[in-house]
Formats: sequence, structure tokens, C-alpha cells
Amino acid sequence: MKLVTLIFSLSTIIISCHGLALDLDHGLSFSIFPLRLKSGLGGHYIPETSCSSWRLGVEAHNIIDWKTVPQECEDYVGNYLLGKQYREDSKAVTEEAYKYAKSLNLVGDGKDIWVFDIDETSLSNLPYYADHGFGVEKYNATAFNEWVDLGTAPALPESLKLYKRLLRLGFNIVFLTGRPDSQKDITLHNLKSVGFTTFQTLIVKDSTEYNGKTAVTYKSSERKKLEKNGYRIVGNIGDQWSDILGTNTGNRTFKLPDPMYYIS
Ligand SMILES: [Mg+2]
Repeated sequence: MKLVTLIFSLSTIIISCHGLALDLDHGLSFSIFPLRLKSGLGGHYIPETSCSSWRLGVEAHNIIDWKTVPQECEDYVGNYLLGKQYREDSKAVTEEAYKYAKSLNLVGDGKDIWVFDIDETSLSNLPYYADHGFGVEKYNATAFNEWVDLGTAPALPESLKLYKRLLRLGFNIVFLTGRPDSQKDITLHNLKSVGFTTFQTLIVKDSTEYNGKTAVTYKSSERKKLEKNGYRIVGNIGDQWSDILGTNTGNRTFKLPDPMYYIS
């Protein structure tokens, strides 16, 4: 009987070890896999790899102060923005924001606010950038302002959804944008025409007060004013790191994807 038990135990150990070896095989092949990504089966270089690394570096704020999208990444960035990944990445951010917002108990005095940036956060300039190399071309203020002045920028759908949900939860919305005061009226018109109809205020960049100042300085200063006026910045969402860095950033910040341009 003891011999039978011993044989049974031994065979169980052998089967377990074999299973472990199989798992190790899988583990090893998975861990090797990323190291093989740089080249295709024929050993040729896949440019997409470096462009996706570039985008990750940009989104993680490891790559900063860049002026234009690398020329070789134009197709990559264009495909990303026009394909479903941009929408899905945006949704991953806004769903997290909503989960956070839902978990809070608001005071209910109207002072709980959520700060929204505008360009590439609330309104999309993709129609413009699609005609200008998706960020490969050097920024052209004249051409871009002509586009903004049309007031026809579409809403970013996931952001609009978040905005509506936040309103239902009882938040007040504040738009804080680097757009100049000369574009305030058209921006108000554009926001309302695409569904951003209810908000506390729209803050635009005063060209005298903030002449030559960075977005971080300007936005920090305006958020500080809001808090001085008794508002509590519960959430803050933008596509640039300069929307969410600095002071008075809010209790939680959310960064939307934007591989087209960098604003410091
Ligand atoms: Mg923006």
C-alpha cells in the first residue's frame, strides 16, 4: 500500500513539474517577445515601434519642449488620431474621472468645480491638424487662428459625455483656456453650439496680464483666483501637462492624450 502511495505521489510531482516547465516556457517566450519587436520576421526595422515609444514618452512627460511631431511619425500620429485608439484612450481617462467624481459627496453649495481645458480637451482641432500634417508642420499662428475664428471645432465626444455626467452630479464647470481674450466670443459660441451649454465661467488668457507667461504660470494663477473666491477645484482635466502642473491644480487631475503639440 505504501509503495502504491509513493508511486502516486511521485507521479503527481512529475506532472506538476512538467506543468511548471510548460508555464516557464510560456513565461520565457513572453518575456523575450518585447525584445524582438524592433524587427519584423525578416529582421527589418519597424518604424512604428519608435513612433509608439515617442508617443509614450510624450504622454508620460518624459519628452518635453518638443516643437513638432517627428516627420517619420506623421502617418503613425494620423492613424492614431483618426483611428479608434485615440477615442479609446480618451475614454479610459474620462471613465476614471467619472468614477472618481461619483465617489465624492459634494457639499452642494455650488462651489465644487471641475476645470476643463478647451483645445484637445473640450473642442477638437483635428479637422485643422488633419490638413496640417498632424503636428509635423511648424505651428502657424495665423492659419490656426483663422481656423479657431470659424467657431466650428467639434466636441471631443468622451469629454462631452464626462461634462454632462459631472453636471448631473452637481458640479459647476469652469473652462480655463490659453486662447486669448480676442477669441472669447467665438469660443463661447463654439462651446455652446456643440453641447457645452452650462458652465460657471470661461476664463481666457488676458494678453496684458499674462504677456510672455507660460501656460503653467497663467493657469496656476487663475486657479488660485478661483480658490480665493471660495471655489473648490475637485477635478481638473486637460490634454497638456501645463494644464495640470503648477499650483492649485485641484484634488485630482486627468491627462487626455495629445501627440500633436506641446505647450509649456
Ligand atoms: Mg488643450
